[in-house]
Amino acid sequence: MRPEPGRADPNLILFDYDGVIADTRSIFQQAFRNACAVFGLEHCAEDEVFLRIFEGNMMAGLSEAGLQETDRSHFLWVLKDRLSSLPRPRLFPGMRDVIVTLRRHFPLWIITSNASDAVKPVLEQAGIAGCFTEIMGADFHPDKTEKIRMVRSRFPESFRAWYIGDTLGDILEGQRAGCHTVAVTWGWHTRDILARGCPVYWAEYPEDLLRILGINHS
Ligand SMILES: [Mg+2]
Repeated sequence: MRPEPGRADPNLILFDYDGVIADTRSIFQQAFRNACAVFGLEHCAEDEVFLRIFEGNMMAGLSEAGLQETDRSHFLWVLKDRLSSLPRPRLFPGMRDVIVTLRRHFPLWIITSNASDAVKPVLEQAGIAGCFTEIMGADFHPDKTEKIRMVRSRFPESFRAWYIGDTLGDILEGQRAGCHTVAVTWGWHTRDILARGCPVYWAEYPEDLLRILGINHS
């Protein structure tokens, strides 16, 4: 049965960042390509393999593609370094206002495979860094399910947790952590790929998130 949220309900809203809040596909893929090259994994940055890696957990996908367990931390460091040196991405149109509105009703988090230090300046520039209780990047922990569980453990079980993502991996990791999942269709994965994760809700436009979460936006 579908949950019926409302502004009086205790909800926690957890956002993915890449492809949901910021239009990072080309920038992230470029940084990812550079990082992969350091570890002899250039093929992982080709479109098809790159997108397939995000059908699950990023680090698990890289391990399957040949990244050694002992190189994981080094890979994330290189990725963070490359992301920090590239131009800042833009936010998707309408996303800023949606985040500001949601923050009036719910606590918000970012749970991402990006680097926290690369995400924060983008949010600061848009004037919305203060909307988020915390940004949990891959530097904090590589596993989104684990990070979502950490946030959830700080609240009573009566709080409903929502994970908003744009990849099949997001939907699966959110489900695994017991979240109501929302798939957005303006990000990295197509609707067909996302549908394999059976998300509870679909958002075609950022404003749909307000409707899904029971906020009247006028
Ligand atoms: Mg994403």
